[in-house]
Amino acid sequence: MIESDVIIVGGGPVGCVLANKLSNELNLKCLIIEKRNHIAGNCYDEYNKKGLLYHKYGPHYLRFKNRKTLNYLSKFTKWIPGEYIVKTYVNKKLYPIPINLETLEMFFKRKFNSKKDVENFLNQKRVRIKKIKNAEDFILSKLGKEIYENFYKNYTIKQWGIHPRNLSKTITGRLPIRINRNPYYVKEKLRLMPKKGFTKMFKKMINNRNVTIRLNTDFNKIKKKLKFKYFLIYTGEPDRYFNYKFGKLNWRSLIFKFKNYNKKFLQKCVQYNYPNDYKYTRTVEIKHVTKQKSNHTVISKEYPTNKGDPYYPIINDKNLRLFKKYENLMNKEAKNNIFFEGRLARYTYYNTDEVIERALDLYLTLKKKFKTIRSQKSSIRL
Ligand code: UDP
Repeated sequence: MIESDVIIVGGGPVGCVLANKLSNELNLKCLIIEKRNHIAGNCYDEYNKKGLLYHKYGPHYLRFKNRKTLNYLSKFTKWIPGEYIVKTYVNKKLYPIPINLETLEMFFKRKFNSKKDVENFLNQKRVRIKKIKNAEDFILSKLGKEIYENFYKNYTIKQWGIHPRNLSKTITGRLPIRINRNPYYVKEKLRLMPKKGFTKMFKKMINNRNVTIRLNTDFNKIKKKLKFKYFLIYTGEPDRYFNYKFGKLNWRSLIFKFKNYNKKFLQKCVQYNYPNDYKYTRTVEIKHVTKQKSNHTVISKEYPTNKGDPYYPIINDKNLRLFKKYENLMNKEAKNNIFFEGRLARYTYYNTDEVIERALDLYLTLKKKFKTIRSQKSSIRL
């Protein structure tokens, strides 16, 4: 038997935050079980042989909706500004993306004199759709056919292997649409990058003698040997946890190809998107954000695929219906002190700050539960 006060399945952001809080504040022994050979989940970054810090599972553009999550993370890292500027390659030209005033001016080859002017123009372009049902409707109704076809349609098909008509409007709705010249990729003003990287930040978070980590360990293979005293926290795929009882959830994955260059920089900004050309969706030169000083640089190309580790839940009606069934089972597990959290477990397209915030909230629930369990145990003893 392998015993611990708390067993945490997955050493990603959720697992690390909960291990940190439960071990420090409630003095509980936490065992993290992680399938990969490292912690930090898809936020994992490491130095390559040229000494360049790179994001192994794609760029993580940390942003905050509020100071609470930022203040918490600031205990484990210093910050540098998050200069996330992205361009998209359309008809052999690089345009700002998210769509902003400059994109519209470049693409439609005209100037706009006022906010009213752009609004009137977009009003003529918009396709009138009564009920916005999917990712295609969403963009057509806001920006019209030309922008949809050149900037969104093929990128979405490449990224998801599914037509935007069969995907939730929340997917294309992730990108802001701007009628000003703001060039940043994300809408939040608090955009930051951990100064020494994500992995260092998460390592510091779980640096407590109450925390043990078992890497290269598949929870499913050892679960019969595990025993927890207070809680089990599961951050993996829900269908897997329940032995695919209702069927398999669909996920989208990525393959990354990295290449080093003996150059200071190759791109003008951190990311270029390729909606209509090539098999990859984007190239990322993270050095634009990490601001490392080096005569070398590293570029990644992202190839979407259905095989491999789950990265993205595929949000459409069919998958959400299936997930609901698993969600019911997950909710019932709370009475056994088993809790589910994170992008995979909740089958939701959360950003890193959002899962950290959710983990902090879950901690408050667990803290209350812990006090109840403790008081029940002591009253039995009396
Ligand atoms: N998207 C697009 N064109 C772009 C960038 C994004 O059509 O140039 C759409 C696409 O459907 C994508 C979604 O917007 O899946 C969300 O993009 P985001 O960059 O937020 O994806 P992530 O960084 O999470 O992979």
